[in-house]
Amino acid sequence: MTWDFSTEPEFEAKLDWARGFVRDEIYPLEVLDLDHTEFRRLAAPLQRQVKEHGLWAAHLGPDLGGQGYGQLRLGLLHEILGTSELAPYVFGCQAPDSGNAELLAIAGTDEQRQRWMHPLLEGRLLSAFSMTEQGTGSDPRQFTTSARLEGGEWVLTGRKWFVGNASRADFHIVMAVTEPDAPPHHRMSMLIVPADVPGIETRELGLMNDPDHRNPVWSHCEVAYQDVRVPAENLLGARGEAFALAQKRLGPGRIHHCMRWIGVCRRAFDMLCERAVSISVHGGPLAEKQTVQNWVADCAAAIESARLLTLHTAWKIDQVGASAARTEIAMIKYHGATVLHDVIDRAIQVHGSLGFSTDMPLEQMYRWARAARIYDGPDEVHRVTVARRLLKGYQPVPVPTEHVPTRRAAALERFRDHLELALAAR
Ligand SMILES: Cc1cc2nc3c(=O)[nH]c(=O)nc-3n(C[C@H](O)[C@H](O)[C@H](O)COP(=O)(O)OP(=O)(O)OC[C@H]3O[C@@H](n4cnc5c(N)ncnc54)[C@H](O)[C@@H]3O)c2cc1C
Repeated sequence: MTWDFSTEPEFEAKLDWARGFVRDEIYPLEVLDLDHTEFRRLAAPLQRQVKEHGLWAAHLGPDLGGQGYGQLRLGLLHEILGTSELAPYVFGCQAPDSGNAELLAIAGTDEQRQRWMHPLLEGRLLSAFSMTEQGTGSDPRQFTTSARLEGGEWVLTGRKWFVGNASRADFHIVMAVTEPDAPPHHRMSMLIVPADVPGIETRELGLMNDPDHRNPVWSHCEVAYQDVRVPAENLLGARGEAFALAQKRLGPGRIHHCMRWIGVCRRAFDMLCERAVSISVHGGPLAEKQTVQNWVADCAAAIESARLLTLHTAWKIDQVGASAARTEIAMIKYHGATVLHDVIDRAIQVHGSLGFSTDMPLEQMYRWARAARIYDGPDEVHRVTVARRLLKGYQPVPVPTEHVPTRRAAALERFRDHLELALAAR
């Protein structure tokens, strides 16, 4: 029987180091109001330290310079990295680069890996994952961006939306319809598109958490591709297989998202508790008011349950693979996003107007947390997935299986002899 919630001491030591490093070296960068260029300059020496400690790009297998930790250990690391939005970049596992490197590892040719993946892993290139089209992001079967082969080149035309880092990236991985007559899930392919080829126009979007697009780590863009030409060999994976590839990219990546949210929750929860024991109102500390105690207790339980659900999903991926864990992978998305929102919300409430002000990081965390219910597929879509998959295990019945009179009649029939003997003995 193996049912063990402990972390082996060698990996716990690495987590301890990461915890201290993120707190001491990365938290201070958060309050310097750095732009992207300044942040990258200050992050470079920190990235070297992460590499020295063997935690750089830890999501990759040993053949690609990672450690092959598996999803469970990675989940524990991401819980720490999630406490600062700057940390994943410093640790070489920043979305969308981490997922794109995995895509190139899974589906790239030797040449593609050489040209795009290795420099990406070394932090010398930045990338974008260009999939969503406005108004149809949750139903990719409706995407219209297309590419056709013409004289040994793909000619790409279409408009993508909310593409992370498109304005800063050196290349985009674009999902485009290349097989218009194929069944819906086999119409699209992935293309590697260098950012400097003619015909690409990007417009940076203002976001709820970044209205002036000054975020040091990300930009988000609308991207127009107009007759963009790339060589035929820039096809990533097989023709018509973009859907299947995207699933491979998103499944384990969701563990990382969700564990990072747990990290954010913990930081907000620490602020909540610290505030609760620090101020007194109406004759006593906040910590002694029952409502605040309920929040502390409920938040702690919510964080712990989301954490265990996510780690169990990671464990299941490690044991039986991502496709066997699809229900759990969908479940952690909406459950984690809800817990994230609720914990930050209560932490703000306990701080009152201070929590609403930019003198605390909570308001920024709250605005960013709102996106979690939308990106990586809106929560509603994941709920549909979970419900559909669970309901498949049930059959319609004329009478409920648990119907008491029916069960009683069956039980009387089954135990008739015993009951008659018992009656006779009375
Ligand atoms: C911060 C952030 C970063 C992102 N980064 C990237 C990126 O790097 N690359 C990229 O390609 N995309 C990215 N996206 C886009 C993201 O993938 C999409 O926003 C997401 O898939 C939803 O698509 P949509 O916004 O077009 O919503 P729509 O498809 O327009 O859906 C709108 C709403 O409809 C409802 N809905 C949809 N389906 C159902 C259903 N089956 N049942 C009930 N209700 C439903 C939901 O409430 C949903 O929010 C990012 C988004 C955000 C917010």
